[in-house]
Amino acid sequence: MNETNTGTCQICGRTCKLPKGKVSLHGYNRPGHGSINGRCYGAGFAPYEQDCERLRWFVSDVLQARRTHLVDAIARHESDELTEVTVYPDPRTWRPHGTPAPQPQTYKRGEKQLNSWGCMVDNFAEVVHNRIAGWQTEIRQVDREIETQTSRIDAWKSAHAQAV
Ligand SMILES: [Zn+2]
Repeated sequence: MNETNTGTCQICGRTCKLPKGKVSLHGYNRPGHGSINGRCYGAGFAPYEQDCERLRWFVSDVLQARRTHLVDAIARHESDELTEVTVYPDPRTWRPHGTPAPQPQTYKRGEKQLNSWGCMVDNFAEVVHNRIAGWQTEIRQVDREIETQTSRIDAWKSAHAQAV
């Protein structure tokens, strides 16, 4: 095998060059998340044509693990034992030069705050509600991804049934 060969990435399905027989370095676009400029988990591994171990690992240790983490986080936020939430502002948010960085805000269950329009709001309830809604959306995306990747594992197994 030489560097002009190409193969399919186990994880993202992209056609890549195969230096030393492994899928070359490339970024990963997670479906439904737009562009994520991380290193694809399939980079540096054998192509899908040869192997699907990395894909199996990805489904169990990345996707399933992420799903479990999200389900736990939702359960924790739905529990009465959660008494406060802290919101950390995104440091990348633009602000005028010289303006101090926004500080983390902690909201306690049952306490209301005056908002900038002069209304009393329950920030705790709002933060909890928004976090749960975001995680539920992500679970649906992760579930779709698990479904897609599981069918790619099944397709690999049937394609290689004779060889095993
Ligand atoms: Zn990839």
